Amino acid sequence: MTSQPDVDVAILGGGIAGLWLLARLRRAGYSALLLENHALGAGQTLASQGIIHGGLKYAIDLKLNADSAALADMPARWRACLDGSGEIDLRAAKLAAERHLFWARRTLTSRIAGFFGSKLVRGRVDALAQNQWPAVLQDADHVGAVYALDECVLDVPALLAALAALGEGCIKAGQATIAPQDNHVALQVAGRRITAGTLVSTAGAGNEALLPQLGLPPQSAQRRPLQMLLVDNAPGLLWAHCFDTSDKPRVTITTHRKNDGALVWYVGGLLAENGVAQSEADLIAAARQEFATLLPKLDFSRSRFAGFRVDRAEGATDDGRKPEGPVLKRVGNIMLSWPTKLALAPQLADLVLAALPPASGRVQPAFGDWAAPQIAPAPWEVATWR
Ligand code: FAD
Repeated sequence: MTSQPDVDVAILGGGIAGLWLLARLRRAGYSALLLENHALGAGQTLASQGIIHGGLKYAIDLKLNADSAALADMPARWRACLDGSGEIDLRAAKLAAERHLFWARRTLTSRIAGFFGSKLVRGRVDALAQNQWPAVLQDADHVGAVYALDECVLDVPALLAALAALGEGCIKAGQATIAPQDNHVALQVAGRRITAGTLVSTAGAGNEALLPQLGLPPQSAQRRPLQMLLVDNAPGLLWAHCFDTSDKPRVTITTHRKNDGALVWYVGGLLAENGVAQSEADLIAAARQEFATLLPKLDFSRSRFAGFRVDRAEGATDDGRKPEGPVLKRVGNIMLSWPTKLALAPQLADLVLAALPPASGRVQPAFGDWAAPQIAPAPWEVATWR
């Protein structure tokens, strides 16, 4: 008789995908173990801007494409978790901003107004009167219109702490060696041998190391680099995209509070995509120029700046394209997975749960004195400011 594995599911990687999946599995009665080889959130998750996109950013090319359709339900699904009525209980997490904004430069107001007035997005966007604009956008010479999107922004460090608490006892530190067997996967980790009915890797860029072992081609995964900009002592609170003639935001700004209390702007969008080919000094110079053009009345005299390089690690579609939703690749009892966006972690967990056999009903093992991983620091806590 074959003995039962120690756990139904082992998960590799404690970013948003692995931690969300662990919480769903535990609620559904699966025994589970999540292994993290560095620190929770260390890959992309703490580097993300925490925006729970509803797809409107991807619809600005004036059609609701597949990217935006995949995202449309996400804000409501996350909000339900945050108020305790959703699929997992995230009442211990918190929002950084109730609604992400979208500001149009004065020169572009009519195109944007046409889009936001269209039937496509009705009910998902509110045009704000000027007295409702955030203080940093009160510049009528340069800001033409401000819209509030049906998209919230999460405090990602608080989210990670909440998810780590939900998974307490099932999250352990270590780098596993994996040996697939006929009806389970054996893992050698931290001086122990653990067996799992199914192994799900949610290791972000770390998934790439498993491709050869699973006989999958290297192009099954892809990376898209960014050089994000950080602004210490930022001039005020802002969570917003600024749109211009491109269908990508010129800048996407989120605000974070450092442990020392200072406000930080974390800036993505085209600035960060163009920043990939730039030195940090050139990125900072480009950012200063961009702020002088977009919001010239703001005072950055007390601000310090830093660049932060990070790759978006994603699965590729079978024909090598950028995926529109989460990606799951299965070889025997091993699954490799990528949420594609933080916002889509709930959809990835749906895919994994649908592909798993039912929970065995075995009691969740206690793993004794095996150490749990730390939560990684956010990029703004470790930046070298210039
Ligand atoms: P990761 O967060 O990369 O986590 C992988 C984890 O696995 C890490 O902790 C790593 O240490 C661990 N690991 C690696 N190898 C192993 C191994 N062998 N064994 C054990 N552990 C391992 N999405 C949004 O929806 N909204 C946003 O606003 C947003 N902003 C973004 C901004 C930036 C700059 C970037 C880069 C991405 C952004 N994203 C955003 C995308 C989002 O961050 C990612 O899609 C998401 O965080 C991926 O989560 P993950 O858990 O799959 O991977």
